[in-house]
Amino acid sequence: MPLRVVAQARPSGTPVAASVLQRGALAGLSRSRPRTPHAGWGSSLRRTFVAPVAHEEPPHHHPELLARYAVELPHYEPRDNSDIPEVFGNVHSTESFSAVDGPGVRFLIFVQGCAMRCLFCSNPDTWALKGGTPTSSKEMAQQIRRVRNYLKPRGGVTISGGEAMLQPHFVSAVFQEVHAMGLNTTVDTTGQGTKHGNWDVVLPHTDLVLFCIKHMDPLKYEALTGLKQRGALKFAEQMAERKIPFYLRYVLIPGYTDAPRDIDKLVEWCKQQPTFQGIELLPYHVLGRNKWEVMGIPYPLDGVTTPPHAAVQDVIRAFNQQDVAVICAG
Ligand code: SF4
Repeated sequence: MPLRVVAQARPSGTPVAASVLQRGALAGLSRSRPRTPHAGWGSSLRRTFVAPVAHEEPPHHHPELLARYAVELPHYEPRDNSDIPEVFGNVHSTESFSAVDGPGVRFLIFVQGCAMRCLFCSNPDTWALKGGTPTSSKEMAQQIRRVRNYLKPRGGVTISGGEAMLQPHFVSAVFQEVHAMGLNTTVDTTGQGTKHGNWDVVLPHTDLVLFCIKHMDPLKYEALTGLKQRGALKFAEQMAERKIPFYLRYVLIPGYTDAPRDIDKLVEWCKQQPTFQGIELLPYHVLGRNKWEVMGIPYPLDGVTTPPHAAVQDVIRAFNQQDVAVICAG
């Protein structure tokens, strides 16, 4: 997932297969080279930003600019959960209360494993598919049950990663447990996997998607993530077909994802999506960089800086002028 840094300590006893992680990570990086789509792209590696001349900010057009996740999700009546199967998954970590990963207060589960190798990844320690703590969906439900009263009325459970879609049966079982508790479900995903193997398993139990599209340009998408963009677009078709609302998460990286043409393309695409709710803009940061160092992997965005406030405002304005709601983290 995009730029979240998993801050809490790994549970004691968690197997840390550092050498496996490192091998997997390096293999992933070398597999995906060469990744620069054309000369000049990403040239901000050494660019210095000059703050634009101060000018009066026009008012934002969209009333929902500051509304975090205004979408209303379905309400569920608590029910007996004995018919829900028990499934084991590999969990990286959990967070009991999050206010930034879907509506209301949310219990957050980070699952282990991701097939992407995003150049800006804050959590390369979630890449290896075989790491994490083997956890039963019933055990996870027990943990959620302890805090469920704090998650009401709007909150629920968000499963992120790594890539949540890569453990579809575990995610599906946990989501069914969550619904049985009377809470709603959100998946934070890049749409990895396939319709039959992954999305058909998870989406029937999903109320909201935080869909992280890495880039609207197919070549740049691949260069940034190591995977092709067409899978993500197919996943978006599934959300539309099933009428599942989604917020688009977009990481703003100077020199990589901030070109006005790419932003325009993104706006255009979003407006064509029938269940699109708004964009969550995530300005690039370097907080996860130390994890790359610990794992012995060269950090690919060395020299790239957090976008200046004014540049972020420009992008927000571009969205708002098109009447697209923006949530901006940071
Ligand atoms: S590599 Fe995977 S976990 Fe890291 S940002 Fe990309 S999708 Fe998220």
